[in-house]
Amino acid sequence: MPYTEDRTAWYEGQGLWQHIPASDWSDWVWQLKNRITSVAQLEERMTLTADEKAGCLFATQKLALAITPYFFNLIDRDDPNCPIRKQLIPRGGEAVVSEEEMLDSLGEDEHSPVPGLVHRYPDRVLFLVTDRCAAYCRYCTRSRLVSNAQDYNFHPEFEQGLKYIETHPEIRDVLLSGGDPLLLSDKKLDNLLSRLRAIKHVEFIRIGSRIPVFLPQRITPELCEIFKKHGPIWMSIHTNHPKEATAELRAACERLSFAGVPLGNQSVLLKGINDDAEVMKALMHRLLRMRVRPYYIYQMDLITGGAHFKVDVRKGIEIIRALRGHTTGYAVPQYVIDAPGGGGKVPINPDYVEKITDSEVVFRNYEGQRFRYPLTNTPLPAGSEGERDLVAGAMIVD
Ligand SMILES: *Cc1c(COP(=O)(O)O)cnc(C)c1O
Repeated sequence: MPYTEDRTAWYEGQGLWQHIPASDWSDWVWQLKNRITSVAQLEERMTLTADEKAGCLFATQKLALAITPYFFNLIDRDDPNCPIRKQLIPRGGEAVVSEEEMLDSLGEDEHSPVPGLVHRYPDRVLFLVTDRCAAYCRYCTRSRLVSNAQDYNFHPEFEQGLKYIETHPEIRDVLLSGGDPLLLSDKKLDNLLSRLRAIKHVEFIRIGSRIPVFLPQRITPELCEIFKKHGPIWMSIHTNHPKEATAELRAACERLSFAGVPLGNQSVLLKGINDDAEVMKALMHRLLRMRVRPYYIYQMDLITGGAHFKVDVRKGIEIIRALRGHTTGYAVPQYVIDAPGGGGKVPINPDYVEKITDSEVVFRNYEGQRFRYPLTNTPLPAGSEGERDLVAGAMIVD
């Protein structure tokens, strides 16, 4: 069975940085300072394929290259198809731009009443608080602004954003994202969360972060105390493949959970990485073991230079079909397409219903068996109660 054992990124005996003292390795500031950010640093540690070399040449114009030592150790340096490698190391495909793709594929800039705040749904806002991440996913939805490789010059406007939320009582839910909000200092986060908590109509605060995955060392007891103080703070982490579910991630999730942070997970459906029902199922199972509830699987957004990650939507539907009923309901996320241009997230589901009329609904279960549920209520003829067919199997149509 693949992916059943937890693995640590350091003590495996085959990772790099074995000579580093454990106190450095477990220090998030050390991890950030020692990130791999250039082709030369990559090539010192692994042999790049021609495709990766081509991608690296182009990458700096699109989205900066950065990988934490912790996450780099999860790469299989002998396997060009390693699912971790494909997420973080640029490939030639990034230079290929097609007609359907857009810089701001979700129309976020148009829905921003103040810079860095996206108000798309009536009752909630997306608050972009930084343009930096611990490491950069090559399929990033916000590559136009994240890492500033494209000279977007994003500057989070905290005061303007807070003022907008304060003066819009319909906003009951604030989602902090970026970039990665957990790259802010403890002091800044503490301050931001206090300011949000002070707004009476804000009843739900959540953070979207890949830090637990890229930099689990950042989830310090001090940070957890801040979440406890301002709780409940909800968090969506972002994993795509069971290889990311390490002992370190598990420990970080435990620290968050024990501080009262409910955890969800968002995955992006990615070609050659997780476009496979068995891989997805293994990931979802490992998330549940870490107290993380799978939340969304996203169809890849139509960002420029992202076509090499794009998966057929029919494959996504097939994956959900392979999960629903076949495993724990908690392990089944909602598959969505974030509507291009800014229509919001739309659920994409396998179709179980075959027919609905005024009198019945006919549908199939996870095994493909067909059932009928009557919508009519026909009174029994007087005196015939004993003759009812009580066999549930009678509802099976074939
Ligand atoms: C994803 C998103 C949200 C949150 O959506 P939920 O379905 O509530 O998780 C809010 N605003 C924007 C702009 C988003 O993209």
